[in-house]
Amino acid sequence: MRQQTFFSPTMRDVPADAEAISHQLMLRAGLMRQTAAGIYTYLPLGTRVLHKIQAIIREELNRAGAQELLMPAVQPAELWEESGRLDDYGPELMRLNDRHERRFVLGPTHEEVITSIVRDGIHSYKRLPINVYQIQTKYRDERRPRFGLLRGREFIMKDAYSFEPSEEALAHTYEVMYDTYMKIFRRCGLDFRAVEADAGAIGGTGGTHEFMALADIGEDTIAYSDRSGYAANIEIAAVRPPDDTEEGTPAALSAENGYTSGEAAATAAGQPTSAVITGRLFYIDEVPVLILTRGHHEISDVKVGNHFDTLDVEVASDTHVQELFGTSSVYIGPVEAPSNVKVVADQAIRPLVNAVCGGNQDETFYANVDHRRDFDIDAFADLRMIQEGDPSPDGEGTIQFAEGIEVGQVFSLGTKYSEALGAQFLDENGKSVPMQMGCYGIGISRTLAAVVEQHHDEDGIIWPKALAPFDLHLLVINPKDEVQQTLGDNLYEALQTEGYDVLYDDRKERAGVKFKDADLYGMPIRIAAGKKANEGIVEVKDRKTGEVTEVQAENLPAYLNDIGW
Ligand code: ATP
Ligand code: MG
Repeated sequence: MRQQTFFSPTMRDVPADAEAISHQLMLRAGLMRQTAAGIYTYLPLGTRVLHKIQAIIREELNRAGAQELLMPAVQPAELWEESGRLDDYGPELMRLNDRHERRFVLGPTHEEVITSIVRDGIHSYKRLPINVYQIQTKYRDERRPRFGLLRGREFIMKDAYSFEPSEEALAHTYEVMYDTYMKIFRRCGLDFRAVEADAGAIGGTGGTHEFMALADIGEDTIAYSDRSGYAANIEIAAVRPPDDTEEGTPAALSAENGYTSGEAAATAAGQPTSAVITGRLFYIDEVPVLILTRGHHEISDVKVGNHFDTLDVEVASDTHVQELFGTSSVYIGPVEAPSNVKVVADQAIRPLVNAVCGGNQDETFYANVDHRRDFDIDAFADLRMIQEGDPSPDGEGTIQFAEGIEVGQVFSLGTKYSEALGAQFLDENGKSVPMQMGCYGIGISRTLAAVVEQHHDEDGIIWPKALAPFDLHLLVINPKDEVQQTLGDNLYEALQTEGYDVLYDDRKERAGVKFKDADLYGMPIRIAAGKKANEGIVEVKDRKTGEVTEVQAENLPAYLNDIGW
């Protein structure tokens, strides 16, 4: 491709709201442009990288036995009513009406469409299992679209769905897909981890793993062991139960007045923050529940939802807290709490003997609270976020944190959708049973951004070989010099004949501009025909190390071959 007419407009001043480095670099290097909030146009340079990612995905999935198809983005709302997700999915689901006022949605995911098709087409165990995938544009009206391609409202996803005759068959496909994802993200040059995760709104009974590209901008936190392979999203990372040795000997309950925080009341009573019991009021399936954690711990909403087996978990508003407790959320506690409020405690509270908690009146706390003596607990459970330094749940090593970008997720769905949509088949005994399902997603546009997050320096992008938009970037330093120009032209032809995809900077620009753009675009190998062109010598620069090697032009193919290009 000759750069003179290559449509890749660079941008000098990126908008202030482009916080993520990948967002900035993709705008600056002309990989994409924003068309509306969270909605982007992929320019030729960006499109080339997307195609490379897609080619890797297709190759690995086809090898794993999955078959490509393509479903519509526009889906009838009735299908979503059938699965129950028309309401459950909430405002993220983009909805529209056609000219006859028939209701449609723009697909954020495709369980409904594919399940309805498989339901109508497959009736016997003899046709199972099947595994299908598509690469397609998805729509989610995200509350906070941000970080460029990392969280868009229109984005490109690979989604796969498998239909299985048994739980064992599903477990097998899940493993195959997990391994396939490991290969895909490795080939994309990502530094990533597969972590245990929460199934969230998509539901399902089996396991699920997220694939996290490590990057500070990531919106997820991963808890991993410094000694074993354990890694999980902190939302669900299991905390080891405390040993139940009582922490002290019970003392008489006392009221502490005139304090505005549990910590202050604890200090006055000569107790540490870890002795404070914090109460937070939730409405869970519309029932008021006071969740208790120790002062130095943080509640995991996801664990709370999983404990109650619901997604309907809402933190009570200040008004509701006032109505029920007659005081603000700072002072609420389990001692003499309203009788219609359920009390559920994190397991770390069990060994606590002399605790400090809210007194259910303004500026009032209790000290020396003993949960066995002073109030009733409906249940103890693991409800807090794991913390750095906690023992790893598998018993090996200590927990550390890292930030991650979720680039993919695999789910073992079980029969949630097949039951809702009636995808049944006759098993070997002639009995009609629901199909077992798995679903498997990769955020392709997000993966592109994650790669840029990990592969850049202050001058621009540094593409991993497998994803570089072009194999080589060829430059003529001074196009007015006929020798340089001729050498460049000849090399452009010769390298293409060798099978390389070459971006040829034949522009009438100053050398400085060309070098700057080349660094910004980030092709891993840059070849420049400059002053030594009259000796037939070109400069080959490794974008990553900055190392420059002089090579005789006729030896260039052999040299590239030697360095594994
Ligand atoms: P998140 O938690 O980041 O909102 P999700 O868990 O809702 O994502 P999935 O339903 O698992 O997303 O979708 C599969 C993949 O699609 C994700 O792993 C992610 O890579 C990608 N993806 C999801 N939402 C977006 C988005 N708004 N923009 C870009 N990619 C996305
Ligand atoms: Mg996900």
